[in-house]
Amino acid sequence: MIFHSKPTLNKEDSSAVSRVINSGYISQGEAVKRFELELAEYIGVKGGAAVSSGTSAIHLSLIALGVKEGDYVAIPTYVCPALLNAINYVGANPLLIDINPDSYNISTTDLKKKLTKKTRAVIVPHIFGLPADIKDILSIGIPVIEDCAQSVGASYKGKKVGSFGHCAIFSFYATKVMTTGEGGMVVSNSDKILEKVRDLREYDHKPNYIVRYNYKMTDLQAAIGISQLKRLDSFIYRRREIANLYSKRFSELGISIPKVYPESEHIYFRYVIKNRVKGQGSRGKGLEGDLKFFEDNGVKCMRPVFKTIHRYLTPPPSPPSQGGGELGGGFPEAERTWNELISIPIYPSLTDGDVKKIVRVTEKWREAKVE
Ligand SMILES: *Cc1c(COP(=O)(O)O)cnc(C)c1O
Repeated sequence: MIFHSKPTLNKEDSSAVSRVINSGYISQGEAVKRFELELAEYIGVKGGAAVSSGTSAIHLSLIALGVKEGDYVAIPTYVCPALLNAINYVGANPLLIDINPDSYNISTTDLKKKLTKKTRAVIVPHIFGLPADIKDILSIGIPVIEDCAQSVGASYKGKKVGSFGHCAIFSFYATKVMTTGEGGMVVSNSDKILEKVRDLREYDHKPNYIVRYNYKMTDLQAAIGISQLKRLDSFIYRRREIANLYSKRFSELGISIPKVYPESEHIYFRYVIKNRVKGQGSRGKGLEGDLKFFEDNGVKCMRPVFKTIHRYLTPPPSPPSQGGGELGGGFPEAERTWNELISIPIYPSLTDGDVKKIVRVTEKWREAKVE
């Protein structure tokens, strides 16, 4: 079975961890500081503050931007629940936005339509490694948190994502583009935001009392992060190489492939295809059947987003396949996309043989659909 995703680890990563262990100083220290400096330099921003996860990075970013109980924070509905959790941690409310059906990123049109005076911030994920319309969104004038959990190294109009917003967050969970096991970072050009995040991530030796957290990253994690960052460009190179192979073959077969945009450099955290193919017959079992076909043939594929946020907040009435639900009608593009997209394996440690097998199974899947 070819796994859907996998971390890319090697001896350099393990010796980096060994060195930290041997130093006897394993919690937040010099390695964390160095990782912050190196990632900030890579992204092209003033500084970074490392934390325990992408979720804690969003949580502290919201506090640093002054988001409070009762405020609204705009997010796309087609995203993982980490964003919703962070919004709930500060007692704010989500303002759910539909997506652009071609890029799968937050729809700027829908965002502009739904914004109110109570909207205090917008979290903009660059979904699957493809930059969102970040300049357009910034021009609206509300504070922007870029969510780069899936897009470290991607660029938009020649600049790395994470350098546009008031701040940006990263996740280094095991199967993200680069990893520290678990981990996250807030980067920003604002010293004020960075200082606030650094203050809130730890609780001890403080002159005053306010509610703070224990969201620190360890030097063990940071050492892996520094080691991974050295190889990040090679990870991205390999992801693009695989994506190009897929796109070339799949477009010949009439399979819908990820759209390319001249202003954006996609890093292919996810490679997604649509489950409807050109010349498809009337037979169809829905996405579950497609996922099962791939699995039965030794290739683990997944929905790239497990469940949309509006579906979590308003369970659909039965039957679930009718696109119903209270909020369901408000997110036609996210609904359609959720029903259509298949994420096929793409990561640097896939061998050429693995890639060939994935292409072969995809060809077989298409044959079965067209029949
Ligand atoms: C993974 C992810 C997060 C959350 O990161 P964790 O480190 O798992 O907390 C947030 N946003 C997006 C878009 C993600 O993919």
